[in-house]
Amino acid sequence: RDILRMVVDPIVMDGRKVTASGRIGIVASVDTKTESGETLRQAEAALRRASAKAPRSYVVHDRKHDALERARESLDFDLSQALGRQQLHLAYQPIVELASGSIIGAEALMRWRHPVRGELQPSTFVPAAERTGTIVQLDTWALQAALREAKSWPEDTLLAVNVSAVQFRQPDFVASVFTELAATGFPAGRLELEVTETVLMREGRETEETLQDLIAAGVRIALDDFGTGYSALAYLARLPHHRIKLDRVFVKDLANPATAGLIEAVVAAARDRDVMVTAEGVETTDQMEAVRRIGFTHAQGFATGAPSCSPAMVLPGSLPQAAV
Ligand code: C2E
Ligand code: CA
Ligand code: CA
Repeated sequence: RDILRMVVDPIVMDGRKVTASGRIGIVASVDTKTESGETLRQAEAALRRASAKAPRSYVVHDRKHDALERARESLDFDLSQALGRQQLHLAYQPIVELASGSIIGAEALMRWRHPVRGELQPSTFVPAAERTGTIVQLDTWALQAALREAKSWPEDTLLAVNVSAVQFRQPDFVASVFTELAATGFPAGRLELEVTETVLMREGRETEETLQDLIAAGVRIALDDFGTGYSALAYLARLPHHRIKLDRVFVKDLANPATAGLIEAVVAAARDRDVMVTAEGVETTDQMEAVRRIGFTHAQGFATGAPSCSPAMVLPGSLPQAAV
């Protein structure tokens, strides 16, 4: 603390007051057997952690942090190898049209078969991939693989693919989508890209232009995890889209009349503009009844089909429709 105070104390230069900022990472090396190189490596890790903190703070780095840091580094490394080692695959979850009760398409969801940790869900690796930038390769692969696999699906079946905010902002994103569509011959009108609010939060013309370019080519746009971000109304009015997917936290809470009333208004407003509305995470028959009553156009959830690695299981004609 004393050292920090000395660093951040303002000094006078050329008659002007100058303030410096400082953060300190601390490693205690009491064990004389530890090599200096190892201590330096830990000190660097300590400094990295300190850099992420508020100015004027210090961080003590111990074995526990070191183990966490190493686990993270090893996950990052494994992830960078996962594509080349063919450890990724896609699961598909059916999208059900409520009016007809039929499956009209499926959403591709990424899975990672880790050699030691087994099958991993995106929540364990997508944030890491976004942090390191690996997500660009992963999302490019997911789109390619999904288009290739969906080519053999029945005609008119919709394919939904998730796009990370990082991927969406790549300058060549639109071009890469067109390239993949052309390479596979998959009709653009059957592809729906799912983007989250975080993508759209970024102000400016680029987001709008990206969406417009995709839409002009026939690609459909879904706003994913709707209701969980911030400026919903502002972008809803400004940015073109075909569907909103209401996050499952709201579906869980539909028994609450206040939530149900609010959601009903959102659904009505969307339908007025010819925007489709999917209820995510529909798990029970009660929830299914509620989303029907409220006027959702589509549903996705365990009640109508969990994600499956065999597309044949989720496509029209192959599922018992009792739940619907
Ligand atoms: P998401 O796009 O909102 O996908 C829906 C998630 O909810 C999936 O989790 C799905 O398995 C799960 N789910 C479906 N029905 C139910 C239900 O009835 N109850 C409950 N509790 N959960 C249900 P998953 O597959 O673990 O994916 C998590 C998230 O990871 C996705 O959320 C999406 O944001 C992201 N993700 C998945 N695949 C990709 C991808 O290829 N690229 C990118 N960038 N993100 C992906
Ligand atoms: Ca999604
Ligand atoms: Ca979602």
